[in-house]
Amino acid sequence: MLVLSSPSGAGKSTIARNLLETDPAFRLSVSVTTRKRRSSEIDGQHYHFRSVPDFEVMRDRDELLEWAEVHGNFYGTPRAPAEKAIGDGQDMLFDIDWQGAQQMKEKVGVDMVSIFILPPSIDELRERLKRRAEDSDEVIETRLRNARAEIAHWREYDYIVVNDDLNDAFHEVQAIVTAERLRRDRRPGLFDFVSEMLNESAVV
Ligand code: 5GP
Repeated sequence: MLVLSSPSGAGKSTIARNLLETDPAFRLSVSVTTRKRRSSEIDGQHYHFRSVPDFEVMRDRDELLEWAEVHGNFYGTPRAPAEKAIGDGQDMLFDIDWQGAQQMKEKVGVDMVSIFILPPSIDELRERLKRRAEDSDEVIETRLRNARAEIAHWREYDYIVVNDDLNDAFHEVQAIVTAERLRRDRRPGLFDFVSEMLNESAVV
């Protein structure tokens, strides 16, 4: 379970997309949201876009692994696909905020690795949000105010990546994934492998 968080505009979505395209072991957890769909987004692919009452039904039926209010809209992680991935030993990517990361950590524990993507500065973040031109000035100002609050939670993450250069940041995320996959406790097959190796060398 790989959790990626960052304030909007820090490059997290691009990094997540690159990871999904280059690493077939990862599946994306598609969140449910009550936010309005942006013109570039596809329902069911980027998010499941739902009304507030529909979201509340899912939440009240405990169909969400975690949920939070972000920028005045509801967002939540559908429980069933995430639990299936955990059961199958499948790697899953979660693009969720700090509130979601906290709730997931409580539920998933050691099987979760979290990365916080930082922008190089708040000014650069503002420029990136303006260049994206997907949100109104008012929404951008709300997002910048929220960015500061989001960044304040950086210490709760296992890894911090500063996205000064997108390529470098992506390679750092890949390095984290590689290192975490190599952890001894994530490789149950190693016990037999090493035991066999030692037995063989004893025969020689
Ligand atoms: P955006 O509206 O820009 O797509 O996302 C706004 C914020 O909501 C981002 O920080 C994103 O990571 C977060 N978010 C997206 N889906 C979820 C979710 O299912 N749960 C939580 N807690 N946050 C989410």
